[in-house]
Amino acid sequence: MDNKRPILLQGAMEVEISYFKEVITDLEEITIYGYEFFKGNFEGYPIIVSKTKVGLIEASIATFIGITNFNPILVINQGTAGACNKTMHIGDIVIGDKCININSFITNAREEKQGSISLDWELLTFKDGKDELIELNANEKLCNIAIKCSNSYNVGKIVTGTIGSGDVWDKEVDRIKWFNEKYNVLCEEMETISVYTVCKKLDISVIGIRVISDNEILKESFDSSVTLKLQKFIMEICKELIKEVKE
Ligand code: SAH
Repeated sequence: MDNKRPILLQGAMEVEISYFKEVITDLEEITIYGYEFFKGNFEGYPIIVSKTKVGLIEASIATFIGITNFNPILVINQGTAGACNKTMHIGDIVIGDKCININSFITNAREEKQGSISLDWELLTFKDGKDELIELNANEKLCNIAIKCSNSYNVGKIVTGTIGSGDVWDKEVDRIKWFNEKYNVLCEEMETISVYTVCKKLDISVIGIRVISDNEILKESFDSSVTLKLQKFIMEICKELIKEVKE
């Protein structure tokens, strides 16, 4: 790794970045077009913390600004997510080696008064030409480093798989299970697909890591306190990344 280029650490909400701001030294706040960035160092390595704000559009803009202004070596997007199966509990972590847009779909044709049946919808990615479901990948090396750090996390289990991303908070259990059964989505949230898309276009390595903050199927309701545990785990990953640079 080029040791001059910073690690860009993202979170959508203040609670998702507040620990980073505590442990990073020489903190300097830089606001660009209303998006907050915090420049500093961790173990002698440059880090940029970015508050992306919530949702796909905000995260796209924040990622584009972050990459074009700070030229990061890699991007780590992290934060909370809702579980999409019965085996994931609050505090468990998903390493998103894949991500799909759960907000991009085509419906079946239905006449007037025939209503809307969302379980019939198909996910796809609209392209200039053939439309199909596109799954974007995280950087493999970053996934392996995150997996390697898993034993430092004792709050819950860590699994690797697909993050579903969209501007939607699903509370319908059948729909949540449909994402899981049909598309293998482990958790859903509102930013990762934007970050993967922008990073792919700008050729920057990226990984998305999410902590389960709620499980609608099991009636475990939103608990933002787990964001602190995730941020501590992310800093363990950063230590490992920085060690690799120095070696
Ligand atoms: N209710 C919270 C706000 C959460 S807004 C509050 O008042 O503080 C949504 C944010 O939580 C997004 O950044 C999204 O990525 C994440 N999120 C957590 N669980 C989610 C779920 N089940 N569905 C969608 N987004 C979720």
